[in-house]
Amino acid sequence: MARYTVVGGGIAGLVVARRLAMAGRSVTLLEASDHLGGTVARHLVGGIDLDAGAESFAVRGGTVAALAREVGLGGEIVAPSSEGAWLQPVSGPAVPLPATSILGIPGTPLAAEVIAVIGTGAALRAQLDALIPSLWARKSLTLGRLVRRRMGSAVLEKLVAPVVHGVHSVHPDDLPLDRAGGLRAAFTHEGSLAAAVRSLRDAAPAGSAVAGIRGGIHRLVTELVADLETHGVDVQLGRRVRSVDGLDGTVVLAVPLAPPPGRKVVLATLVVEAPELRAAPRGTGVLVAQGARGIRARALTHSTAKWEWLRERAGGREVVRLSYDDEPADLATVARQDASALLGVELPEPVDFARVEWTRPVGGVADVGETVAGSGLAGIIAQAESRAAELLAHE
Ligand SMILES: Cc1cc2nc3c(=O)[nH]c(=O)nc-3n(C[C@H](O)[C@H](O)[C@H](O)COP(=O)(O)OP(=O)(O)OC[C@H]3O[C@@H](n4cnc5c(N)ncnc54)[C@H](O)[C@@H]3O)c2cc1C
Repeated sequence: MARYTVVGGGIAGLVVARRLAMAGRSVTLLEASDHLGGTVARHLVGGIDLDAGAESFAVRGGTVAALAREVGLGGEIVAPSSEGAWLQPVSGPAVPLPATSILGIPGTPLAAEVIAVIGTGAALRAQLDALIPSLWARKSLTLGRLVRRRMGSAVLEKLVAPVVHGVHSVHPDDLPLDRAGGLRAAFTHEGSLAAAVRSLRDAAPAGSAVAGIRGGIHRLVTELVADLETHGVDVQLGRRVRSVDGLDGTVVLAVPLAPPPGRKVVLATLVVEAPELRAAPRGTGVLVAQGARGIRARALTHSTAKWEWLRERAGGREVVRLSYDDEPADLATVARQDASALLGVELPEPVDFARVEWTRPVGGVADVGETVAGSGLAGIIAQAESRAAELLAHE
């Protein structure tokens, strides 16, 4: 029987290990920490079970939903609130994110809601996108370069960068165009960026681009782990692998070995008694433009406004989560100040507060996982599934 060793028990490693084991292969899974799931994790804040990392998934391709259905969570998939997200510009109050946009790229640059964020001059510059001849989008092109060239720096920095950072945790200059949904193909076909955005939006099925799981995304890990047990995977926790030498069978790296230093992301979660937040004053949350005055957070999710199931469980309290690239010295205080400013409501001392730190990979060699497929469960699960199928087909 073919034997495999999977290194890394994040979502990518779990998906590959499960698929190989279900095909009857002998699988060992080595995980450095004392638990499985990696960045898909849970924690208890104010007595409420919350996601400590990923809290939603992109519905594109249907991959995550298909996996959720397979592990028995099909009936638990939920849509977020239809209230959109807001944007905190560099100056002035937060504004709703322009509705006709993808990753912050406006489908209609001269729309009033776009002008409200970037000003008339910058909107006119963005409109030039319709006139600039379209050039073949080079393979190595990043989203940032394309947006800057077509629509100008204001669209890039004031609209696209906050959204891309919120979704992919990187600046658009570091996001390969191929990881920006179907934007490359749509741009090549339509010849302008705004037209590409409009065509992608028209083609998208009605409803939200993301979904969640009632009770939290971490439930996916619980079910995947149960499947590993059912299919006899030898799970070894506390096993940090430094070299593939001596590992059994075909090795699948679900994490780069000896990676370069990663990027730190810190999450601050506040559970507060604040009835004023019940009306969801900033929709599902706020993405923050870099340099926004007085704000240190990069994004805020108003979790109880985003997920109905959480509102029901929170017993009248509100859950707010902020993310930081540069952690302030007094995180608890700064997080409360930031949340108050972003939500436009002076928040009281929280009932409970939690800090979680994640290190994201910035390079290295792996077979599956974020290093290969980019940040996000949809892409990672799809790539891990296809890698497992490839391995089985080429035995
Ligand atoms: C704060 C935050 C919020 C996010 N929110 C979302 C979201 O809402 N939706 C979404 O789709 N995506 C989200 N993401 C991204 C998503 O969570 C990740 O892209 C994905 O979970 C990464 O999975 P992975 O298996 O590649 O890696 P990881 O989750 O990083 O797992 C890697 C695993 O390998 C283990 N490991 C590391 N080194 C070794 C070693 N040498 N030997 C053995 N084991 C090792 C680690 O302990 C870990 O368990 C978020 C990320 C962060 C940081």
